[in-house]
Amino acid sequence: MLQKREKVLLLRTFHGRTLRIVREHYLRPSVPCHSPLCPQPAACRNDGKLLTSDVTHYVIPDWKVVQDYLEILEFPELKGIIFMQTACQAVQHQRGRRQYNKLRNLLKDARHDSILFANEFQQHCYLPRERGESMEKWQTRSIYNAAVWYYHHCQDRMPVIMVTEDEEAIQQYGSETEGVFVISFKNYLDSFWPDLKAAHELCDSILQSRRERENESQESRGKEYPEHLPLEVLEAGIKSGRYIQGILNVNKHRAQMEAFVRLQGASSKDSDLVSDILIHGMKARNRSIHGDVVAAELLPKDEWKGRTTALGESDNEDKASGESPSEPMPTGRVVGILQKNWRDYVVTFPSKEEVQSQGKNAQKILVTPWDYRIPKIRISTQQAEALQDFRVVVRIDSWESTSVYPNGHFVRVLGKIRDLEGEIATILVENSISVVPFSEAQMCKMPVNTPENPWKVSPEEERERKDLRKTHLVFSIDPKGCEDVDDTLSVRTLNNGNLELGVHIADVTHFVAPNSYIDTEARTRATTYYLADRRYDMLPSILSADLCSLLGGVDRYAVSVMWELDATSYEVKKVWYGRTIIRSTYKLFYEAAQELLDGNFSVIEDIPEFKDLDEKSRQAKLEELVWAIGKLTDIARHVRAKRDRCGALELEGVEVRVQLDEQKNIHDLIPKEPLEVHETVAECMILANHWVAKKIWESFPHQALLRQHPPPHQEFFSELRECAKAKGFSIDTRSNKTLAESLDKANDPSDPIVNRLLRSMATQAMSNALYFSTGSCAEEEFRHYGLALDKYTHFTSPIRRYSDIVVHRLLLAAISKDKKMEIKENLFSNKELEELCRHINNRNRAAQHSQKQSTELFQCMYFKDRDPETEERCISDGVIYSIRTNGVLVFIPRFGIKGAAYLKNKDGLVISCGPDSRSEWQPGSLQRFQNKITSTTTRGDSVTFHLFDHVTVRISVQASRCHSDTIRLEIISNKPYMIPNTELSHQNPLLLKSELVKEVTKSVEEAQLAQEVKVETIQEEYQEYCQTKGRSLYLLLEEIKDLALLDVSNDYGV
Ligand SMILES: [Zn+2]
Repeated sequence: MLQKREKVLLLRTFHGRTLRIVREHYLRPSVPCHSPLCPQPAACRNDGKLLTSDVTHYVIPDWKVVQDYLEILEFPELKGIIFMQTACQAVQHQRGRRQYNKLRNLLKDARHDSILFANEFQQHCYLPRERGESMEKWQTRSIYNAAVWYYHHCQDRMPVIMVTEDEEAIQQYGSETEGVFVISFKNYLDSFWPDLKAAHELCDSILQSRRERENESQESRGKEYPEHLPLEVLEAGIKSGRYIQGILNVNKHRAQMEAFVRLQGASSKDSDLVSDILIHGMKARNRSIHGDVVAAELLPKDEWKGRTTALGESDNEDKASGESPSEPMPTGRVVGILQKNWRDYVVTFPSKEEVQSQGKNAQKILVTPWDYRIPKIRISTQQAEALQDFRVVVRIDSWESTSVYPNGHFVRVLGKIRDLEGEIATILVENSISVVPFSEAQMCKMPVNTPENPWKVSPEEERERKDLRKTHLVFSIDPKGCEDVDDTLSVRTLNNGNLELGVHIADVTHFVAPNSYIDTEARTRATTYYLADRRYDMLPSILSADLCSLLGGVDRYAVSVMWELDATSYEVKKVWYGRTIIRSTYKLFYEAAQELLDGNFSVIEDIPEFKDLDEKSRQAKLEELVWAIGKLTDIARHVRAKRDRCGALELEGVEVRVQLDEQKNIHDLIPKEPLEVHETVAECMILANHWVAKKIWESFPHQALLRQHPPPHQEFFSELRECAKAKGFSIDTRSNKTLAESLDKANDPSDPIVNRLLRSMATQAMSNALYFSTGSCAEEEFRHYGLALDKYTHFTSPIRRYSDIVVHRLLLAAISKDKKMEIKENLFSNKELEELCRHINNRNRAAQHSQKQSTELFQCMYFKDRDPETEERCISDGVIYSIRTNGVLVFIPRFGIKGAAYLKNKDGLVISCGPDSRSEWQPGSLQRFQNKITSTTTRGDSVTFHLFDHVTVRISVQASRCHSDTIRLEIISNKPYMIPNTELSHQNPLLLKSELVKEVTKSVEEAQLAQEVKVETIQEEYQEYCQTKGRSLYLLLEEIKDLALLDVSNDYGV
């Protein structure tokens, strides 16, 4: 029997509104208890995660403990944790979505021994709130009551410890029930985990930070910032249009001065504002932090300011912020924060000297975040000195109006400053990428494929699926050494004379059940991450490199799309979607396929499948394969031409493919290469994605996952148009078709770099393609601008992208629907899908950023410790691609580096180039024009730099202790750089990029070998500096290093 209750909730929405919700609340006689000691597992319906039996007690954290100490509860050492629903809801309502999601992920994580107990649905656990009782007291009382019930439910066989911060509760309940203990969290750690040093450090750090916050608010010194307005006032103000809601975006090059509020929600539609709002200075920013959702108030027009366009100290951004230099723009100040978006921040502690200069209050240390956009954070710690050589993770706790800086606490050590692993770990944390290896619990659900126990096609699947093994010549074309083969192709002539084109994609969802451990993990990762020297897979390698990978000569499950085409017009007559069994005959690499297409058959020596064949069958097989590749290419040309007529764009750097070498290392990032066969494959994939998009949208119009690419804002094209004009080209940006055509024409035969740069500018001006749920968008917004298609999705790479897994499930559900069969797949609702798309889009951005940042890290390591005066590699040819007031932006094709070169130095001297064209610094002035900049010395000499001029640059590295190092460029001659060595001049610049990664990796390894000897001394040093804590710090560091390495250890054959 269910009993009905009503429960009143005050909820704060995503947009900051407070809602009063009356929820009907049904009480049940039993809810899952997830305990192995359960006397009635059937009644409790204990499916899914259970607590381990291997514990001496269960621990139940009170709501406040969950809020404040979640990061300690995350420690894998802590076992048998029961999170009460009441505590989880307190986190959700008071700590926001980010913290709540962390908790949810922890509960889902198979590696962590914790469960959720829905105490408020259990009829004996639920306690109504009493009249006059505070929310806090009621929460604690409910949790205690549930703890007692749970203890009895497990037949008094397992002691239960409730940990709370509420002294009164400890007094009141401490000895009320035998077997149920109530103690403080600190006490708990001291008694049960005396050796878990890292947890103690963290706990101290949190406690100290809280204590100081309390002291501070009592002291209540002079106000540094105005108070934030109450939520109700903000909401009313936003509604009436007095305040504007948006996301705070700090300019990383002028983090102290410039931030913008990017309009969001109602504000972006209703107000007349078209641009962002400038927030000038820290005072006006009023304690909001990059990424927060804020409410801002516009200042009167006479107080408006313009944005800066001069090159900043660390300016190497190529994103043009439009040509609206110092013209005043809407300027405002922040009056309140609607949603805080704080995350983990990597920081650097000040050096010894700096600590001393920070003065009397030496316990509070100002640390500098790696991300320029985040303000310095005040940390209370005695370990500042021990931590000064490390990258450290901290969290912000609060930012009072009385404090210049936010307060935070120390979380953990990442690695040494300037150490490759430490810096990579930094990049991962800064992008919120977590790549803990797959756990045993996750892996034990995976199928096996070993020589003793080979994986086989099952008889049931054989009955259910269309079997293509005997009927179809299926093959794959991928970069050399590719292990995760997502996609294969086939083409054949049917008996009726028509052609049949097939795209067969790895059937990942056969192995990954919805909401299984692996599914949850893959969803969290959302994508495979490719860094410059390593990658982190979305799926475990038993799937990604083996059972899902459509390798040659083995049976595999696939999801196929097959089109029946007219033999001459290639018009689509019919299309079939479904599950299949395939056996790929050839695993070709691009270059070989291209040779075959070009009629150069000697390449078959490199194709293993042709070995051990007699001459006759070899000839027959070759003919068959060559016909298929030729036919595919012809079909692809035709399909491509059709898209071209609609204005498909060929852009620089839109699609990057990763090439892996034999050791699975990333060999190169290849932008779309001119090999035609590459396009053939791409076109077939685009075709499959397009047809699957249509299919799932038709079947589920309100909950299909598609990918849109919105048309760009015209104003973003102004720089592109101006630059092209400088070279005498005209770029027509009115549509994707005109843009594509005019970009094709903007080709300087004497300098191919010009076209590349223009395409790259066009790409920069574009918005990103994004996943979305069809229920959230009008149909005309579905379009993919870049590909010139009305509907598009991602179906062809389920091994590497979670979006494709969702799309596979949608497609299979659509097929069941067509057959009037029950839909087994549990589909996402529009709301859930929208949320998921947001997550995947966010993870894709993180993947891009981490790839870019790791590439820059390697570039800096490559040039670091070189003498820029003497070494050949430090001098290179560069092309000017943007003009600023005090310098230019330069692209170096050889290394693919973009960066700023100043024409005026710190002493105010300007660049001057004598008759020998070598540059020197002279007193003088700069004058900037639309497409050029002139430097004139007081002596009267002048030199002018135009857009697209080739110059000789010297590359050096500007080291930074707290941030990433940056490449510095210096123009040393206004003439192009003539490469003395002809061999070098013919080297492919892309090849050099991978060489660069290799060389850096090698020297890092050598340095590590040399350092291993020193480890022991380092350990002693720690003990000296941080007394008892030294050892654990060091061990922690090593542990993290191991974790970071483990995931790629296979790649290195370690
Ligand atoms: Zn039970």
